[in-house]
Amino acid sequence: MACLVIHGGAGTIPRASLTPEGHQAARDGLRDALRAGWAVLGQGGLALDAVQAAVVALENHPSFNAGHGAVLNAAGEHELDAAIMDGRDRRAGAVASARYIRNPVLAARRVMEASDCVLVSATGADEFAREQGLDMVEQSYFTTPLRQQHWQRAHEEKAGLLKRERTEAEKHGTVGAVALDDLGNLAAATSTGGYTYKRVGRVGDAPVIGAGTYAANDVVAVSCTGLGELFIRRGTAQDIAARILYRGDDLSSAAAAAIADLTADGAGAGLIAVDAAGAMAMPHNTEGMYRGSVTADGVLSVGIYSDDFAAVETIG
Ligand code: ASP
Repeated sequence: MACLVIHGGAGTIPRASLTPEGHQAARDGLRDALRAGWAVLGQGGLALDAVQAAVVALENHPSFNAGHGAVLNAAGEHELDAAIMDGRDRRAGAVASARYIRNPVLAARRVMEASDCVLVSATGADEFAREQGLDMVEQSYFTTPLRQQHWQRAHEEKAGLLKRERTEAEKHGTVGAVALDDLGNLAAATSTGGYTYKRVGRVGDAPVIGAGTYAANDVVAVSCTGLGELFIRRGTAQDIAARILYRGDDLSSAAAAAIADLTADGAGAGLIAVDAAGAMAMPHNTEGMYRGSVTADGVLSVGIYSDDFAAVETIG
């Protein structure tokens, strides 16, 4: 009965702006992340380990705005946010504005398991990760030529010099995973570089438990993507849990209602969620959202737009 859902960000990718190579690279990245997560779940492993494995794979892939390939802030630097939550006991860990941690989701996991904090930020996050023996990298590890271009265009826009509007893909993105394991446990993880040209020190919803990331056994696991400030104000991920828990909503109407609220706020938004019965939801109000799933029978599917979500393979 295990299942896995991932996303690589919504609000992205007007069809015309994605080259065939970019399209294929993103699809391959999604497939590999699903395989990494399923390598855990398919063996009867924990949802917590599966979401971590999937998010590490997405952080390592340059197509997505997290880890290698993350966007640059207003100062031309990377500040990375990530969180992980274990639905078994609702323990959670997160890092915000980390600068040198190769895989921020691993630091979030260490915060959960090896500290008495939920959220550690900035230099404190980097120091903690170093103490924990995690892989540390120079900022240049995260930078790709594409993200530099995006920063440059945002800079020109700021100076009033940009002729064409920036695409959503240039502005933001996130990666995330939610899973249910064979024991009925739920878990969620999210990781992001945030918004291109964001204010130095700005923290989005991804590391805010209950906003961009949430998991509670017997209820739901959620990972969000879109303008973080709105998810924080609405407490979106926990709002979905509340709709299910207190109103008895089913997953798809709870998730759709959350997206409708964000749409009313004018936000491009998306999320992935899985409930205790293995129902999955991937609603988004944007033209595209990188996403994928593996169902209990091992069918792996990926898609970017509303009409291209399709099975790719069956894995054991
Ligand atoms: N939610 C992320 C943030 O606000 C960005 C995104 O998902 O596109 O940092």
